[in-house]
Amino acid sequence: MLDETARFGAELMQPGLTGADTEENNLRPKRLEDYVGQEKVKQNLKVYLEAARRRGEPMDHILLYGPPGLGKTTLAGIVANEMGVQIRVTSGPAIEKPGDLAALLTNLQEGDVLFIDEIHRLSRQVEEVLYPALEDFALDIMIGKGPSAQSIRINLPRFTLIGATTRAGQLTGPLRDRFGVLLKLELYSPDELSRIIMRSAGILDQPITPEGAYALATCRRGTPREANRYWNRVRDFATVLGDGIIDRDAALLALKRMDIDALGLDELDRSVLRAIIELYNGGPVGLETLAAALGEEAVTLEDLCEPYLMQMGFLTRTPRGRCVTPLAYGHLGLQPPAPASRPAAPEDNGQQTLF
Ligand code: ADP
Repeated sequence: MLDETARFGAELMQPGLTGADTEENNLRPKRLEDYVGQEKVKQNLKVYLEAARRRGEPMDHILLYGPPGLGKTTLAGIVANEMGVQIRVTSGPAIEKPGDLAALLTNLQEGDVLFIDEIHRLSRQVEEVLYPALEDFALDIMIGKGPSAQSIRINLPRFTLIGATTRAGQLTGPLRDRFGVLLKLELYSPDELSRIIMRSAGILDQPITPEGAYALATCRRGTPREANRYWNRVRDFATVLGDGIIDRDAALLALKRMDIDALGLDELDRSVLRAIIELYNGGPVGLETLAAALGEEAVTLEDLCEPYLMQMGFLTRTPRGRCVTPLAYGHLGLQPPAPASRPAAPEDNGQQTLF
């Protein structure tokens, strides 16, 4: 029978990469050589993995950061595979108390990878338990209360923590400093995304032409999860309205029917740009104000829309808020206002008009 600690640990663990046989898991590359793009990250990681293997030590702790859906969880699974160890998957919000973390850590085997998604959401108290675990592979536990309280130290197996975050800036300094390897994932180019789409098509036995894959890739916001997410819908359109093959026409038709435009913007992206233009004269407007005007969460706009809108050159972040660019007006078929009628940009020394 599982003791209390083991049961607790198991509940905090998500099926993640090892359990449920979901489509997302099936599409995840298992080895570094199958992981498309992120060349700089891969080259460095290859060296770190090889060095750890030669020394016969677990990999140093790794922090992966970048927008959602870029392959952080996938990369954590690859590190575990390449090291020939198990991965345990959990997330910052799931670890509510120091005891939760202790339960997870004491259930690890020598060399295991512990993956904590959204690591910026760990509470301060939990973080403090994590520090000695990361540095000395030990847990300091207080037994009892008041004057008779005692601290005892429990040794842990040596493990690798892989933390993932969409907001490296929200990590506390002491936690960030305990990661030996920091890897930033970038949005993917259309070429890289087409390779990911062709690969997914192969795994799912879906006929697709390179032109079809490229058409999908250019519209998928540089994010593999987005590319894979719309995949089933595109297959539906190709099957019902076409001959089952995803060629360029089938891809473009499906994207049009799903309201995704030629540059990959969806309805939410366009409404962000439209709101800044129509309600705030092109900006600057604060993120919270914008989110309230759209009835969305600020975090949705910040994580899902902004990285791509900025990459496309439609949006800029300034100290005073978000602004759209003339390119955004052009994309929406609108005329940018004449320079004099726009509020002064923060770089300008001119006074900002109040109304
Ligand atoms: P994150 O953890 O950053 O949110 P995931 O690792 O869950 O993202 O990736 C989302 C999906 O995208 C997965 O199904 C995975 O198969 C796919 N994917 C991500 N990165 C790559 C890549 N470099 N090559 C191939 N597929 C990828």
